[in-house]
Amino acid sequence: MLSNFKVILVETSHPGNIGAVARAMKNMQMDQLRLVEPRFFPHADATARASGADDLLRSAQVFPDLRQAIADCRIVLGASARDRTISWPALTARECAEKWVGAAEPANNASSGMEAGRKPDIALVFGRENSGLKNHELDLCHYLLRIPCNSEYSSLNLAAAVQVVCYELFVATDLQPVSRVGDLNEVPLATAEQMEAFYGHLQQTLADIGFLHPERSRSILRRLRRVFNRCHLDTKELDILRGILRFAQNHNA
Ligand code: SAH
Repeated sequence: MLSNFKVILVETSHPGNIGAVARAMKNMQMDQLRLVEPRFFPHADATARASGADDLLRSAQVFPDLRQAIADCRIVLGASARDRTISWPALTARECAEKWVGAAEPANNASSGMEAGRKPDIALVFGRENSGLKNHELDLCHYLLRIPCNSEYSSLNLAAAVQVVCYELFVATDLQPVSRVGDLNEVPLATAEQMEAFYGHLQQTLADIGFLHPERSRSILRRLRRVFNRCHLDTKELDILRGILRFAQNHNA
């Protein structure tokens, strides 16, 4: 089972697509489905299209927003068919599988409360049928996830997109030796929830020291997120950065 991968569907309109996603996942030995504000769920169309994968629908977790749906995840990938004005680091579905399927937490991280060698929880976020993912949702992602296809007709049906990504993960389970994420300090990666607390603290500190102008801050904060998301910070590194922020705040008071 690829249970450390969480498929997250954001505001899906058509319940049939949710069922088709469950089926696509179960075919590829995946069982963790999360739904953010689905328009209709549960629904007979979802059950019909799941075609025997309704156990995934029964165990699907529903969340009021994307932040809560990814809170426990250490890596977040946002699937998008479109080019974005800001250049996010991007992985194809195959590169994602090669990079993350074999990844395990450091073997000796008793302080994290995680089992040695456990696989980190990884979020695969898919957008709305009509408008995809919004930029503020991609702000929460480490990578854009792309399925290479016809550049003049690049938007796959939602369940078809999930199918391609899950297939690549499934194929990669046979290929990947176990590798490690994190560095030699044996410290686990920060979760999305810890990163959000850090970004909130960073924004507040930059405002406190007079660096951020409220109206002009949005694109700076987006770029700063991109910088820190690129680094895959571990929890110890995050503690150091937050210590620096606290120090700056105290010396500014
Ligand atoms: N019309 C939407 C696309 C919706 S398709 C738009 O303009 O963005 C529904 C979802 O399927 C997308 O949000 C994305 O998560 C996924 N998807 C579709 N085609 C994809 C592709 N080529 N690469 C990666 N994800 C894709």
